[in-house]
Amino acid sequence: MEDVARVEGKGGILQGKYELGRVLGHGNFGRVHAARDVRTGRAVAMKVVSKDKVERAGMEEQIKREIAVMKMVSHPNIVELHEVMATRSKVYLSLELVRGGELFDRIARDGRVCDGVARRYFAQLVSAVDFCHGRGVFHRDLKPENLLLDEVGNLKVADFGLSALSCHARGDGLLHTACGTPAYVAPEVLARNGYDGAKADIWSCGVILYVLLAGALPFRDENLVSMYRKMRRGDFCFPAWVTSDARRLIRMLLDPNPATRATVAGILDSPWFRKAAPVATPAPVYTLGNADDDEPPEELNAFHLISLSEGFDLSPLFEQDYHAVASPAGAAGGGRHLQRGAVVVDVRKDGGDDTEYRSFCSEELRPTLEDIVWSPAGAT
Ligand code: ADP
Repeated sequence: MEDVARVEGKGGILQGKYELGRVLGHGNFGRVHAARDVRTGRAVAMKVVSKDKVERAGMEEQIKREIAVMKMVSHPNIVELHEVMATRSKVYLSLELVRGGELFDRIARDGRVCDGVARRYFAQLVSAVDFCHGRGVFHRDLKPENLLLDEVGNLKVADFGLSALSCHARGDGLLHTACGTPAYVAPEVLARNGYDGAKADIWSCGVILYVLLAGALPFRDENLVSMYRKMRRGDFCFPAWVTSDARRLIRMLLDPNPATRATVAGILDSPWFRKAAPVATPAPVYTLGNADDDEPPEELNAFHLISLSEGFDLSPLFEQDYHAVASPAGAAGGGRHLQRGAVVVDVRKDGGDDTEYRSFCSEELRPTLEDIVWSPAGAT
């Protein structure tokens, strides 16, 4: 395939299809541009992913998964993936253009929002999350930086880079990879005994609701270890203006015990949520399975991934297979009591020689991540 990297930013047309415009944001592996589909005139967001950067971080599988998941979920509150293109050095994702920026920036700039606005965002978030869970997709990195707003204030969930499919659960039905952003990640994800992806996403929704209403994070501590301790105990308090109904719901969501934590049904039934009819979101469009089926597909599995790849083959995106595990941290910055997050990465040995694994960690992995890895004082 012709390498079109050279046309970027020079007014050239990407694969004869897209005209790239200004930079909208910076991702972990490249920039996101405003672009125009010259065939239809439609404005899109073009996420440019550098294969080299992805390969260096050993993240090919995650990127493929992000693409597969975004293609699987079509919902009014989830950023739509229109098209994927690849050249020798880059992968291009043509995405629905969301023009209102990140929810994070809105809160960092203007502070907390009123109950009505919070309810609207939260209802849209829960609708998207419930839709994903119904398809066996768990986001695992829900936070205001991954929630975009369109020009009329609708929320769109973006960035499925860390999402998991239920077909990745082990025999115990639980997910075992600790990932996400510390301030938003559920305590059981960090406990490393396996976790229910749906319950972990509900916790993150609880943190987001708290942030919307309080304008600050519920669990904050310079020291991550003591922050986790607070999370495990459900040790947080509310500013005076948060109403008792909102407090009750947030306590149900930030329940450290996933077994008793609220479900989506519990959220929909809560007095705070029901207070005013949340702004209705259009009925979701189901894109998987037989188009004639009335029933949505039950769960995604390897077969869905295969059927998905018809006319949408992800295997050539990266030729080689790597197994190193690493993840870049988020950018620094932020405002008020919000912080753009670091990413928690759990590195484990599946098998093989113990000494070799330890020397890989200490001599190869750790030095590569030196600038971005945080260790608690005194930890080895
Ligand atoms: P990464 O997954 O590598 O972190 P993101 O998908 O979060 O990259 O994109 C980086 C930034 O680009 C976002 O924070 C946002 O500001 C902007 N962006 C991403 N997707 C879109 C989109 N669909 N519409 C508008 N802006 C976007």
